[in-house]
Amino acid sequence: MGAAQQVGNNAFLNKYLMGRAIKGTGLKSNSKLKIGIVGAGLAGLVAAMDLADAGHEVEIFELRPFVGGKVSSWLDKEGNHIEMGLHVFFGCYYNLFGIMMRTGSFDELRLKEHTHTFINSGGNVGELDFRFPIGAPVSGLQAFARTEQLGVSDKLANALRLGTSPIVRALVDFDGGMDMVRELDDMTFTEWFTQLEGPFEGSARGSIDRMWDPIAYALGFIDCDHISARCMLTIFMLFAIRSEASVLRMLEGSPQTYLHDPIVAYLEERGVKINLRTPARDLVHELGADGLPTRVTGIKIKRSNAEKFDATDQDDDRADEEDPNVVTREFDAVVCALDLPGIKGVLPPKFREMDFFDKIYNLDTVPIATVQVRFDGWVTEMNDMKAMMDISGDQSDGRGAGIDNLLYSADAEFSCFADLALVSPGEYYKEGEGSLIQAVFDSRATQRSEEQLVKDCIAQLNDLFPSSKQLTCTWSKVTKLGQSLYREKPGQDKFRPTQATPIDNFFLAGSYTYQDYLDSMEGATRSGLMVADEIVARADAIAAASERYTKAQAKVEAAAAA
Ligand SMILES: Cc1cc2nc3c(=O)[nH]c(=O)nc-3n(C[C@H](O)[C@H](O)[C@H](O)COP(=O)(O)OP(=O)(O)OC[C@H]3O[C@@H](n4cnc5c(N)ncnc54)[C@H](O)[C@@H]3O)c2cc1C
Repeated sequence: MGAAQQVGNNAFLNKYLMGRAIKGTGLKSNSKLKIGIVGAGLAGLVAAMDLADAGHEVEIFELRPFVGGKVSSWLDKEGNHIEMGLHVFFGCYYNLFGIMMRTGSFDELRLKEHTHTFINSGGNVGELDFRFPIGAPVSGLQAFARTEQLGVSDKLANALRLGTSPIVRALVDFDGGMDMVRELDDMTFTEWFTQLEGPFEGSARGSIDRMWDPIAYALGFIDCDHISARCMLTIFMLFAIRSEASVLRMLEGSPQTYLHDPIVAYLEERGVKINLRTPARDLVHELGADGLPTRVTGIKIKRSNAEKFDATDQDDDRADEEDPNVVTREFDAVVCALDLPGIKGVLPPKFREMDFFDKIYNLDTVPIATVQVRFDGWVTEMNDMKAMMDISGDQSDGRGAGIDNLLYSADAEFSCFADLALVSPGEYYKEGEGSLIQAVFDSRATQRSEEQLVKDCIAQLNDLFPSSKQLTCTWSKVTKLGQSLYREKPGQDKFRPTQATPIDNFFLAGSYTYQDYLDSMEGATRSGLMVADEIVARADAIAAASERYTKAQAKVEAAAAA
Protein backbone atom coordinates (compact mmCIF):
# COMPACT_ATOMS: atom_id res chain seq x y z
CA MET A 1 0.00 0.00 0.00
CA GLY A 2 1.25 3.50 -0.75
CA ALA A 3 1.43 6.70 1.22
CA ALA A 4 -1.27 8.08 -1.07
CA GLN A 5 -3.83 6.18 0.99
CA GLN A 6 -3.02 8.40 3.97
CA VAL A 7 -3.88 11.55 2.02
CA GLY A 8 -7.31 12.47 0.76
CA ASN A 9 -10.82 12.08 2.00
CA ASN A 10 -10.65 8.36 2.48
CA ALA A 11 -7.85 8.73 5.01
CA PHE A 12 -10.08 10.49 7.52
CA LEU A 13 -12.79 7.91 7.92
CA ASN A 14 -10.99 4.78 6.82
CA LYS A 15 -10.86 2.45 9.81
CA TYR A 16 -8.41 0.25 7.93
CA LEU A 17 -5.76 2.94 8.41
CA MET A 18 -5.92 2.59 12.19
CA GLY A 19 -5.28 -1.10 11.68
CA ARG A 20 -2.36 -0.09 9.47
CA ALA A 21 -0.87 1.96 12.33
CA ILE A 22 -1.42 -0.94 14.75
CA LYS A 23 0.13 -3.60 12.52
CA GLY A 24 2.77 -1.70 10.53
CA THR A 25 3.09 -1.86 6.76
CA GLY A 26 2.46 -5.62 6.90
CA LEU A 27 5.27 -6.14 4.39
CA LYS A 28 8.76 -7.59 4.70
CA SER A 29 11.06 -6.06 2.11
CA ASN A 30 13.17 -8.51 0.07
CA SER A 31 16.13 -6.15 0.32
CA LYS A 32 17.54 -5.09 3.66
CA LEU A 33 18.40 -1.42 3.49
CA LYS A 34 20.65 0.55 5.80
CA ILE A 35 18.46 3.53 6.67
CA GLY A 36 19.55 6.67 8.53
CA ILE A 37 16.80 8.74 10.17
CA VAL A 38 17.61 12.26 11.34
CA GLY A 39 15.30 13.49 14.12
CA ALA A 40 13.67 11.48 16.93
CA GLY A 41 10.39 13.38 17.19
CA LEU A 42 7.18 11.38 16.76
CA ALA A 43 7.58 11.38 12.95
CA GLY A 44 11.08 9.86 13.05
CA LEU A 45 10.21 7.36 15.78
CA VAL A 46 7.07 6.13 13.98
CA ALA A 47 8.95 5.80 10.68
CA ALA A 48 11.66 3.80 12.47
CA MET A 49 9.05 1.40 13.94
CA ASP A 50 7.63 0.56 10.51
CA LEU A 51 10.97 0.38 8.74
CA ALA A 52 12.47 -1.91 11.39
CA ASP A 53 9.39 -4.16 11.19
CA ALA A 54 9.75 -4.29 7.41
CA GLY A 55 13.22 -5.80 7.95
CA HIS A 56 15.54 -2.81 7.50
CA GLU A 57 18.56 -1.80 9.56
CA VAL A 58 17.66 1.56 11.08
CA GLU A 59 19.77 4.10 12.94
CA ILE A 60 18.44 7.40 14.36
CA PHE A 61 20.41 10.62 15.00
CA GLU A 62 18.89 13.15 17.39
CA LEU A 63 20.21 16.56 18.34
CA ARG A 64 18.77 16.73 21.86
CA PRO A 65 19.58 14.56 24.91
CA PHE A 66 16.12 12.91 24.68
CA VAL A 67 13.63 11.71 22.08
CA GLY A 68 10.17 13.18 21.43
CA GLY A 69 10.96 16.57 19.85
CA LYS A 70 8.11 18.98 20.56
CA VAL A 71 6.28 16.39 22.70
CA SER A 72 9.34 15.75 24.85
CA SER A 73 9.76 15.96 28.59
CA TRP A 74 12.83 15.70 30.79
CA LEU A 75 13.84 15.74 34.43
CA ASP A 76 15.58 18.71 36.01
CA LYS A 77 18.18 18.30 38.76
CA GLU A 78 15.48 18.49 41.46
CA GLY A 79 13.46 15.69 39.86
CA ASN A 80 10.76 17.88 38.29
CA HIS A 81 9.40 16.72 34.92
CA ILE A 82 9.62 19.61 32.49
CA GLU A 83 7.56 19.58 29.29
CA MET A 84 8.19 21.30 26.00
CA GLY A 85 4.45 22.01 25.77
CA LEU A 86 0.99 20.98 26.90
CA HIS A 87 -0.26 18.02 24.82
CA VAL A 88 -3.84 16.81 24.46
CA PHE A 89 -5.02 13.89 22.37
CA PHE A 90 -8.20 14.41 20.31
CA GLY A 91 -10.40 11.38 19.80
CA CYS A 92 -9.73 11.52 16.04
CA TYR A 93 -6.03 10.69 16.43
CA TYR A 94 -6.66 7.27 14.87
CA ASN A 95 -3.08 6.83 13.62
CA LEU A 96 -1.39 7.90 16.84
CA PHE A 97 -3.76 5.72 18.87
CA GLY A 98 -2.87 2.82 16.56
CA ILE A 99 0.83 3.40 17.29
CA MET A 100 0.11 3.60 21.03
CA MET A 101 -1.85 0.32 20.87
CA ARG A 102 1.13 -1.25 19.08
CA THR A 103 3.56 -0.18 21.81
CA GLY A 104 1.12 -0.86 24.65
CA SER A 105 0.67 2.73 25.84
CA PHE A 106 -2.89 3.48 24.65
CA ASP A 107 -4.34 2.39 28.01
CA GLU A 108 -2.16 5.02 29.72
CA LEU A 109 -4.36 7.78 28.30
CA ARG A 110 -6.86 9.33 30.70
CA LEU A 111 -10.24 10.02 29.12
CA LYS A 112 -11.73 13.43 29.98
CA GLU A 113 -15.37 14.53 30.18
CA HIS A 114 -16.69 15.23 26.68
CA THR A 115 -16.84 18.99 27.11
CA HIS A 116 -14.59 21.91 26.12
CA THR A 117 -14.34 24.39 29.00
CA PHE A 118 -13.72 28.15 28.69
CA ILE A 119 -12.64 30.11 31.77
CA ASN A 120 -13.43 33.81 31.58
CA SER A 121 -12.21 36.73 33.64
CA GLY A 122 -13.75 36.74 37.14
CA GLY A 123 -14.28 32.99 37.23
CA ASN A 124 -17.16 32.67 34.75
CA VAL A 125 -17.18 29.28 33.10
CA GLY A 126 -18.54 28.59 29.62
CA GLU A 127 -18.78 25.13 28.13
CA LEU A 128 -19.04 23.58 24.73
CA ASP A 129 -20.69 20.51 26.14
CA PHE A 130 -20.80 17.61 23.70
CA ARG A 131 -22.39 15.22 26.21
CA PHE A 132 -25.73 14.34 24.63
CA PRO A 133 -27.66 11.09 24.16
CA ILE A 134 -27.51 11.45 20.38
CA GLY A 135 -24.11 11.43 18.65
CA ALA A 136 -22.62 13.67 15.94
CA PRO A 137 -23.72 15.94 14.39
CA VAL A 138 -26.55 16.52 16.90
CA SER A 139 -24.22 16.47 19.94
CA GLY A 140 -22.07 19.18 18.31
CA LEU A 141 -24.98 21.33 17.18
CA GLN A 142 -26.60 21.34 20.61
CA ALA A 143 -23.18 22.15 22.17
CA PHE A 144 -22.91 25.30 20.03
CA ALA A 145 -26.58 26.21 20.54
CA ARG A 146 -26.52 25.88 24.32
CA THR A 147 -23.06 27.23 25.19
CA GLU A 148 -22.98 29.98 27.85
CA GLN A 149 -19.75 31.18 26.28
CA LEU A 150 -21.65 33.18 23.64
CA GLY A 151 -24.51 35.68 23.68
CA VAL A 152 -27.62 35.25 21.50
CA SER A 153 -26.37 37.39 18.57
CA ASP A 154 -23.00 35.57 18.60
CA LYS A 155 -24.82 32.24 18.52
CA LEU A 156 -26.86 33.44 15.54
CA ALA A 157 -23.68 34.44 13.69
CA ASN A 158 -22.26 31.02 14.49
CA ALA A 159 -25.39 29.26 13.28
CA LEU A 160 -25.37 31.24 10.04
CA ARG A 161 -21.76 30.46 9.29
CA LEU A 162 -21.67 26.84 10.41
CA GLY A 163 -25.03 26.16 8.76
CA THR A 164 -23.65 27.25 5.40
CA SER A 165 -20.21 25.69 5.82
CA PRO A 166 -18.63 22.71 4.08
CA ILE A 167 -19.40 20.82 7.30
CA VAL A 168 -23.08 20.64 6.36
CA ARG A 169 -22.20 19.31 2.92
CA ALA A 170 -19.86 16.77 4.54
CA LEU A 171 -22.74 15.33 6.56
CA VAL A 172 -24.23 13.99 3.35
CA ASP A 173 -21.15 14.06 1.10
CA PHE A 174 -17.93 13.84 3.12
CA ASP A 175 -15.70 13.92 0.03
CA GLY A 176 -17.37 17.05 -1.34
CA GLY A 177 -17.15 18.78 2.05
CA MET A 178 -13.45 17.94 2.51
CA ASP A 179 -12.64 19.13 -1.00
CA MET A 180 -14.30 22.44 -0.15
CA VAL A 181 -12.26 22.69 3.06
CA ARG A 182 -8.98 22.14 1.21
CA GLU A 183 -9.89 24.93 -1.18
CA LEU A 184 -10.13 27.30 1.79
CA ASP A 185 -6.37 27.24 2.43
CA ASP A 186 -5.93 30.68 0.88
CA MET A 187 -8.07 32.61 3.36
CA THR A 188 -8.01 33.19 7.10
CA PHE A 189 -10.65 31.73 9.37
CA THR A 190 -11.92 35.27 10.09
CA GLU A 191 -12.23 36.04 6.35
CA TRP A 192 -14.19 32.85 5.87
CA PHE A 193 -16.31 33.27 8.99
CA THR A 194 -17.33 36.85 8.21
CA GLN A 195 -17.93 36.28 4.48
CA LEU A 196 -21.69 36.05 4.81
CA GLU A 197 -22.29 38.87 7.28
CA GLY A 198 -23.64 41.30 4.67
CA PRO A 199 -25.80 43.88 6.43
CA PHE A 200 -24.93 42.36 9.82
CA GLU A 201 -21.26 43.36 9.50
CA GLY A 202 -19.40 42.95 12.77
CA SER A 203 -21.91 40.48 14.20
CA ALA A 204 -19.48 37.56 13.99
CA ARG A 205 -16.70 39.27 15.95
CA GLY A 206 -18.14 38.30 19.33
CA SER A 207 -17.96 34.58 18.68
CA ILE A 208 -14.49 34.92 17.11
CA ASP A 209 -13.17 36.80 20.14
CA ARG A 210 -14.85 34.74 22.84
CA MET A 211 -14.70 31.22 21.39
CA TRP A 212 -12.91 30.75 18.09
CA ASP A 213 -9.73 32.69 18.96
CA PRO A 214 -8.85 30.55 22.01
CA ILE A 215 -9.44 27.45 19.87
CA ALA A 216 -7.26 28.83 17.04
CA TYR A 217 -4.48 29.68 19.51
CA ALA A 218 -4.74 26.19 20.99
CA LEU A 219 -4.44 24.60 17.54
CA GLY A 220 -1.75 26.76 15.96
CA PHE A 221 -0.68 29.48 18.45
CA ILE A 222 -2.06 32.18 16.15
CA ASP A 223 -5.51 33.85 16.10
CA CYS A 224 -8.44 33.58 13.69
CA ASP A 225 -7.29 36.69 11.81
CA HIS A 226 -4.11 34.79 10.88
CA ILE A 227 -4.86 31.05 10.85
CA SER A 228 -5.91 29.37 7.60
CA ALA A 229 -9.62 28.51 7.38
CA ARG A 230 -8.59 25.08 6.12
CA CYS A 231 -6.72 24.26 9.36
CA MET A 232 -9.64 25.14 11.60
CA LEU A 233 -12.30 23.51 9.44
CA THR A 234 -10.36 20.26 8.97
CA ILE A 235 -10.67 19.51 12.66
CA PHE A 236 -14.25 20.78 12.95
CA MET A 237 -15.23 18.59 10.04
CA LEU A 238 -14.08 15.57 12.01
CA PHE A 239 -15.88 16.81 15.13
CA ALA A 240 -19.09 17.08 13.12
CA ILE A 241 -18.87 13.65 11.53
CA ARG A 242 -17.63 11.51 14.40
CA SER A 243 -18.82 11.96 18.00
CA GLU A 244 -15.59 10.59 19.41
CA ALA A 245 -13.41 13.07 17.45
CA SER A 246 -13.88 15.92 19.96
CA VAL A 247 -13.29 13.78 23.06
CA LEU A 248 -10.06 14.74 24.82
CA ARG A 249 -7.54 12.43 26.41
CA MET A 250 -4.33 13.25 28.26
CA LEU A 251 -1.40 11.08 29.26
CA GLU A 252 -1.26 9.45 32.68
CA GLY A 253 1.97 11.40 33.35
CA SER A 254 4.99 12.67 31.43
CA PRO A 255 5.32 12.06 27.67
CA GLN A 256 8.76 10.50 28.21
CA THR A 257 7.36 7.76 30.48
CA TYR A 258 3.95 7.21 28.96
CA LEU A 259 4.50 7.81 25.23
CA HIS A 260 8.19 7.65 24.32
CA ASP A 261 9.63 4.97 26.61
CA PRO A 262 7.29 2.29 25.13
CA ILE A 263 8.27 3.38 21.58
CA VAL A 264 11.98 3.31 22.46
CA ALA A 265 11.58 -0.18 23.98
CA TYR A 266 9.80 -1.32 20.79
CA LEU A 267 12.62 0.05 18.65
CA GLU A 268 15.41 -1.37 20.80
CA GLU A 269 13.80 -4.83 20.70
CA ARG A 270 14.10 -4.57 16.91
CA GLY A 271 17.75 -3.51 16.92
CA VAL A 272 17.21 0.19 16.10
CA LYS A 273 20.08 2.31 17.39
CA ILE A 274 19.15 5.75 18.73
CA ASN A 275 22.05 8.22 18.97
CA LEU A 276 21.12 11.14 21.24
CA ARG A 277 23.07 14.43 21.33
CA THR A 278 24.16 13.63 17.78
CA PRO A 279 23.04 16.38 15.38
CA ALA A 280 23.21 15.95 11.62
CA ARG A 281 25.24 18.75 10.08
CA ASP A 282 25.05 18.04 6.36
CA LEU A 283 23.96 15.49 3.74
CA VAL A 284 26.66 13.90 1.61
CA HIS A 285 25.34 13.68 -1.94
CA GLU A 286 26.12 13.00 -5.58
CA LEU A 287 25.46 15.52 -8.33
CA GLY A 288 24.15 14.69 -11.82
CA ALA A 289 25.36 16.07 -15.14
CA ASP A 290 23.07 19.09 -14.66
CA GLY A 291 24.76 19.89 -11.35
CA LEU A 292 21.71 18.94 -9.30
CA PRO A 293 21.69 16.37 -6.47
CA THR A 294 20.79 12.84 -7.59
CA ARG A 295 21.56 10.68 -4.58
CA VAL A 296 22.21 11.06 -0.85
CA THR A 297 25.05 8.76 0.16
CA GLY A 298 25.42 9.64 3.80
CA ILE A 299 24.88 11.98 6.73
CA LYS A 300 27.55 14.16 8.32
CA ILE A 301 26.89 13.92 12.03
CA LYS A 302 28.54 15.59 14.95
CA ARG A 303 29.52 12.97 17.52
CA SER A 304 27.97 13.20 20.97
CA ASN A 305 29.25 16.05 23.07
CA ALA A 306 27.76 15.05 26.39
CA GLU A 307 27.03 18.09 28.55
CA LYS A 308 26.93 20.81 25.93
CA PHE A 309 23.30 20.50 24.90
CA ASP A 310 20.51 22.66 26.08
CA ALA A 311 17.14 20.90 26.28
CA THR A 312 15.47 23.37 23.94
CA ASP A 313 18.43 23.68 21.56
CA GLN A 314 17.37 24.22 17.97
CA ASP A 315 19.94 23.58 15.39
CA ASP A 316 20.76 25.25 12.14
CA ASP A 317 24.56 25.07 12.13
CA ARG A 318 26.24 23.61 9.09
CA ALA A 319 29.20 21.22 9.19
CA ASP A 320 32.55 22.68 10.09
CA GLU A 321 34.98 20.81 7.85
CA GLU A 322 37.79 21.25 10.41
CA ASP A 323 35.84 19.78 13.32
CA PRO A 324 37.26 16.33 14.15
CA ASN A 325 33.95 15.35 15.78
CA VAL A 326 32.07 15.63 12.48
CA VAL A 327 32.04 12.23 10.77
CA THR A 328 30.24 10.82 7.74
CA ARG A 329 27.91 7.82 8.06
CA GLU A 330 26.87 6.05 4.87
CA PHE A 331 23.31 4.81 4.20
CA ASP A 332 21.25 3.29 1.38
CA ALA A 333 18.40 5.67 2.19
CA VAL A 334 18.10 8.75 4.40
CA VAL A 335 15.00 10.20 6.08
CA CYS A 336 15.07 13.73 7.50
CA ALA A 337 12.29 13.71 10.11
CA LEU A 338 13.03 17.19 11.35
CA ASP A 339 11.35 20.38 12.49
CA LEU A 340 11.63 23.43 10.22
CA PRO A 341 14.83 24.91 11.70
CA GLY A 342 16.38 21.44 11.50
CA ILE A 343 15.55 20.74 7.85
CA LYS A 344 16.49 24.26 6.74
CA GLY A 345 19.88 23.82 8.45
CA VAL A 346 20.62 20.32 7.15
CA LEU A 347 19.66 20.65 3.47
CA PRO A 348 22.81 21.44 1.45
CA PRO A 349 22.70 24.69 -0.58
CA LYS A 350 22.65 22.68 -3.84
CA PHE A 351 19.27 21.20 -2.84
CA ARG A 352 17.76 24.69 -2.87
CA GLU A 353 18.37 24.84 -6.60
CA MET A 354 15.48 22.34 -6.84
CA ASP A 355 12.07 23.97 -6.47
CA PHE A 356 10.83 21.02 -4.39
CA PHE A 357 13.30 21.81 -1.57
CA ASP A 358 13.45 25.57 -2.05
CA LYS A 359 9.71 25.81 -1.33
CA ILE A 360 10.32 24.63 2.23
CA TYR A 361 12.09 27.92 2.99
CA ASN A 362 8.76 29.76 2.51
CA LEU A 363 7.42 28.04 5.62
CA ASP A 364 7.78 30.03 8.79
CA THR A 365 7.40 29.04 12.47
CA VAL A 366 5.70 30.43 15.57
CA PRO A 367 7.41 30.95 18.95
CA ILE A 368 5.90 29.66 22.20
CA ALA A 369 6.75 29.73 25.90
CA THR A 370 5.48 27.02 28.22
CA VAL A 371 5.07 28.12 31.83
CA GLN A 372 4.73 25.53 34.62
CA VAL A 373 3.69 26.90 38.04
CA ARG A 374 3.07 24.83 41.16
CA PHE A 375 0.86 26.05 44.03
CA ASP A 376 0.12 25.15 47.64
CA GLY A 377 -3.55 24.52 46.80
CA TRP A 378 -5.94 23.73 43.94
CA VAL A 379 -6.17 26.71 41.56
CA THR A 380 -9.18 25.63 39.47
CA GLU A 381 -11.40 24.77 42.46
CA MET A 382 -13.67 27.82 42.74
CA ASN A 383 -16.68 26.41 44.60
CA ASP A 384 -15.29 24.80 47.73
CA MET A 385 -12.65 26.91 49.51
CA LYS A 386 -11.89 24.15 52.01
CA ALA A 387 -11.16 21.71 49.20
CA MET A 388 -9.12 24.39 47.39
CA MET A 389 -6.78 24.75 50.36
CA ASP A 390 -6.65 21.04 51.21
CA ILE A 391 -3.41 19.40 50.12
CA SER A 392 -3.29 16.89 52.96
CA GLY A 393 -2.92 13.14 52.54
CA ASP A 394 -2.69 11.23 49.29
CA GLN A 395 -4.50 13.01 46.45
CA SER A 396 -2.83 11.08 43.66
CA ASP A 397 -4.70 9.57 40.69
CA GLY A 398 -6.53 12.84 39.99
CA ARG A 399 -8.20 13.00 43.43
CA GLY A 400 -7.21 16.66 44.01
CA ALA A 401 -9.88 19.36 43.77
CA GLY A 402 -10.60 21.38 40.62
CA ILE A 403 -11.26 20.92 36.92
CA ASP A 404 -9.82 17.75 35.41
CA ASN A 405 -9.76 18.81 31.75
CA LEU A 406 -8.08 21.02 29.19
CA LEU A 407 -9.13 24.64 29.70
CA TYR A 408 -9.40 27.49 27.17
CA SER A 409 -9.53 31.22 27.85
CA ALA A 410 -10.18 34.32 25.78
CA ASP A 411 -9.04 36.50 28.69
CA ALA A 412 -5.46 35.35 29.17
CA GLU A 413 -2.34 35.27 27.02
CA PHE A 414 -2.23 31.51 27.45
CA SER A 415 -5.25 30.43 25.49
CA CYS A 416 -5.10 26.82 26.64
CA PHE A 417 -3.90 25.39 29.90
CA ALA A 418 -4.47 22.58 32.40
CA ASP A 419 -3.66 21.49 35.93
CA LEU A 420 -1.20 18.64 35.30
CA ALA A 421 -1.48 17.43 38.91
CA LEU A 422 -5.11 16.61 38.07
CA VAL A 423 -5.17 15.80 34.34
CA SER A 424 -1.91 13.81 34.17
CA PRO A 425 -1.25 13.05 37.82
CA GLY A 426 1.28 10.24 37.23
CA GLU A 427 4.52 12.13 37.92
CA TYR A 428 2.96 15.58 38.26
CA TYR A 429 1.04 15.21 41.50
CA LYS A 430 3.34 15.57 44.51
CA GLU A 431 2.14 14.73 47.97
CA GLY A 432 1.75 17.88 50.09
CA GLU A 433 1.48 20.11 46.99
CA GLY A 434 -1.47 21.27 44.91
CA SER A 435 -1.93 22.34 41.30
CA LEU A 436 0.79 22.22 38.69
CA ILE A 437 -0.60 24.58 36.07
CA GLN A 438 0.88 24.32 32.60
CA ALA A 439 0.09 27.26 30.33
CA VAL A 440 1.31 27.85 26.78
CA PHE A 441 2.00 31.50 25.93
CA ASP A 442 2.21 32.50 22.27
CA SER A 443 4.14 35.24 20.45
CA ARG A 444 2.26 37.96 22.35
CA ALA A 445 4.40 37.16 25.38
CA THR A 446 7.51 35.27 24.32
CA GLN A 447 9.84 38.32 24.31
CA ARG A 448 9.37 38.87 28.04
CA SER A 449 11.84 37.57 30.64
CA GLU A 450 11.14 34.22 32.29
CA GLU A 451 10.62 35.92 35.63
CA GLN A 452 8.08 38.31 34.10
CA LEU A 453 6.25 35.45 32.35
CA VAL A 454 5.81 33.62 35.66
CA LYS A 455 4.46 36.80 37.28
CA ASP A 456 2.11 37.39 34.34
CA CYS A 457 0.96 33.78 34.42
CA ILE A 458 0.10 33.97 38.12
CA ALA A 459 -1.65 37.34 37.71
CA GLN A 460 -3.73 36.04 34.80
CA LEU A 461 -4.60 32.84 36.70
CA ASN A 462 -5.73 35.01 39.63
CA ASP A 463 -7.96 36.95 37.22
CA LEU A 464 -9.53 33.77 35.83
CA PHE A 465 -9.83 32.05 39.23
CA PRO A 466 -10.21 34.92 41.77
CA SER A 467 -10.14 32.50 44.72
CA SER A 468 -6.62 31.40 43.72
CA LYS A 469 -5.28 34.74 45.04
CA GLN A 470 -5.17 32.98 48.42
CA LEU A 471 -2.62 30.48 47.10
CA THR A 472 1.14 30.78 46.86
CA CYS A 473 3.33 29.68 43.98
CA THR A 474 5.90 27.18 45.28
CA TRP A 475 7.85 26.41 42.09
CA SER A 476 7.97 27.56 38.48
CA LYS A 477 9.73 26.82 35.21
CA VAL A 478 9.61 28.52 31.82
CA THR A 479 10.54 26.70 28.61
CA LYS A 480 10.88 28.86 25.52
CA LEU A 481 10.85 27.39 22.03
CA GLY A 482 11.77 30.06 19.48
CA GLN A 483 10.57 28.01 16.50
CA SER A 484 7.76 25.57 17.23
CA LEU A 485 4.89 24.72 14.82
CA TYR A 486 4.96 25.89 11.23
CA ARG A 487 2.87 29.05 10.97
CA GLU A 488 -0.50 27.73 9.78
CA LYS A 489 -1.38 30.91 7.93
CA PRO A 490 -3.23 30.89 4.58
CA GLY A 491 -1.51 29.58 1.49
CA GLN A 492 1.04 27.29 3.16
CA ASP A 493 -0.14 23.90 1.87
CA LYS A 494 1.56 24.50 -1.48
CA PHE A 495 4.95 24.83 0.26
CA ARG A 496 4.64 21.63 2.32
CA PRO A 497 6.73 18.91 0.67
CA THR A 498 5.65 15.32 0.13
CA GLN A 499 7.54 12.57 1.95
CA ALA A 500 9.06 11.17 -1.26
CA THR A 501 11.40 13.72 -2.86
CA PRO A 502 12.83 14.04 -6.39
CA ILE A 503 15.92 12.25 -5.03
CA ASP A 504 15.06 8.55 -5.09
CA ASN A 505 16.75 7.52 -1.83
CA PHE A 506 16.06 10.69 0.17
CA PHE A 507 12.83 11.22 2.13
CA LEU A 508 11.22 13.75 4.42
CA ALA A 509 8.89 13.35 7.40
CA GLY A 510 7.60 15.65 10.09
CA SER A 511 4.38 17.44 10.83
CA TYR A 512 5.25 20.30 8.44
CA THR A 513 5.39 17.88 5.48
CA TYR A 514 2.12 17.42 3.61
CA GLN A 515 -0.12 14.95 5.41
CA ASP A 516 -3.56 16.50 5.01
CA TYR A 517 -3.78 17.36 8.68
CA LEU A 518 -2.67 20.01 11.15
CA ASP A 519 0.78 20.40 12.70
CA SER A 520 0.01 18.01 15.53
CA MET A 521 0.99 14.69 17.04
CA GLU A 522 -1.44 12.98 14.67
CA GLY A 523 0.04 14.89 11.72
CA ALA A 524 3.58 13.89 12.71
CA THR A 525 2.47 10.26 13.12
CA ARG A 526 0.83 10.25 9.71
CA SER A 527 3.97 11.63 8.07
CA GLY A 528 6.02 8.86 9.74
CA LEU A 529 3.66 6.16 8.45
CA MET A 530 3.61 7.73 5.00
CA VAL A 531 7.39 7.92 4.68
CA ALA A 532 7.67 4.27 5.70
CA ASP A 533 5.11 3.33 3.03
CA GLU A 534 7.14 5.21 0.42
CA ILE A 535 10.41 3.51 1.35
CA VAL A 536 8.96 0.01 1.67
CA ALA A 537 7.25 0.40 -1.71
CA ARG A 538 10.58 1.06 -3.45
CA ALA A 539 13.03 -0.86 -1.23
CA ASP A 540 14.22 -3.14 -4.05
CA ALA A 541 14.87 -0.24 -6.41
CA ILE A 542 16.78 1.64 -3.70
CA ALA A 543 18.86 -1.49 -2.94
CA ALA A 544 19.67 -1.97 -6.62
CA ALA A 545 20.72 1.67 -7.02
CA SER A 546 22.86 1.38 -3.91
CA GLU A 547 24.62 -1.67 -5.32
CA ARG A 548 25.30 0.11 -8.63
CA TYR A 549 26.66 3.10 -6.72
CA THR A 550 28.96 0.94 -4.55
CA LYS A 551 30.34 -0.87 -7.61
CA ALA A 552 30.94 2.40 -9.46
CA GLN A 553 32.69 3.83 -6.39
CA ALA A 554 34.90 0.73 -6.13
CA LYS A 555 35.91 1.16 -9.77
CA VAL A 556 36.77 4.83 -9.23
CA GLU A 557 38.83 3.96 -6.16
CA ALA A 558 40.63 1.12 -7.99
CA ALA A 559 41.42 3.44 -10.92
CA ALA A 560 42.72 6.09 -8.53
CA ALA A 561 44.91 3.54 -6.74
CA ALA A 562 46.35 2.14 -10.04
C1 LIG B 1 3.74 23.95 23.05
C2 LIG B 1 3.21 22.92 22.12
C3 LIG B 1 2.00 22.31 22.39
C4 LIG B 1 1.46 21.39 21.50
N1 LIG B 1 0.28 20.78 21.80
C5 LIG B 1 -0.21 19.83 20.99
C6 LIG B 1 -1.38 19.12 21.33
O1 LIG B 1 -2.00 19.39 22.35
N2 LIG B 1 -1.82 18.15 20.50
C7 LIG B 1 -1.14 17.83 19.35
O2 LIG B 1 -1.57 16.91 18.65
N3 LIG B 1 -0.02 18.47 19.00
C8 LIG B 1 0.47 19.47 19.79
N4 LIG B 1 1.61 20.12 19.44
C9 LIG B 1 2.24 19.82 18.15
C10 LIG B 1 3.13 18.57 18.20
O3 LIG B 1 3.98 18.64 19.30
C11 LIG B 1 3.98 18.52 16.92
O4 LIG B 1 3.16 18.68 15.79
C12 LIG B 1 4.71 17.19 16.76
O5 LIG B 1 5.28 16.80 17.97
C13 LIG B 1 5.77 17.32 15.68
O6 LIG B 1 6.52 16.13 15.60
P1 LIG B 1 7.68 15.98 14.53
O7 LIG B 1 8.28 14.66 14.72
O8 LIG B 1 7.15 16.33 13.19
O9 LIG B 1 8.71 17.17 14.87
P2 LIG B 1 9.56 17.41 16.19
O10 LIG B 1 8.84 16.90 17.36
O11 LIG B 1 9.93 18.85 16.16
O12 LIG B 1 10.85 16.50 15.96
C14 LIG B 1 11.95 16.91 15.21
C15 LIG B 1 13.21 16.38 15.89
O13 LIG B 1 14.35 16.71 15.10
C16 LIG B 1 15.41 17.05 15.98
N5 LIG B 1 16.42 17.82 15.25
C17 LIG B 1 16.36 19.10 14.80
N6 LIG B 1 17.49 19.41 14.13
C18 LIG B 1 18.28 18.30 14.15
C19 LIG B 1 19.55 17.97 13.60
N7 LIG B 1 20.26 18.86 12.90
N8 LIG B 1 20.04 16.73 13.80
C20 LIG B 1 19.34 15.80 14.51
N9 LIG B 1 18.12 16.05 15.04
C21 LIG B 1 17.60 17.28 14.86
C22 LIG B 1 14.71 17.84 17.08
O14 LIG B 1 15.53 17.91 18.24
C23 LIG B 1 13.45 17.02 17.27
O15 LIG B 1 13.63 15.99 18.22
C24 LIG B 1 2.16 21.08 20.30
C25 LIG B 1 3.40 21.68 20.04
C26 LIG B 1 3.91 22.60 20.92
C27 LIG B 1 5.23 23.26 20.60
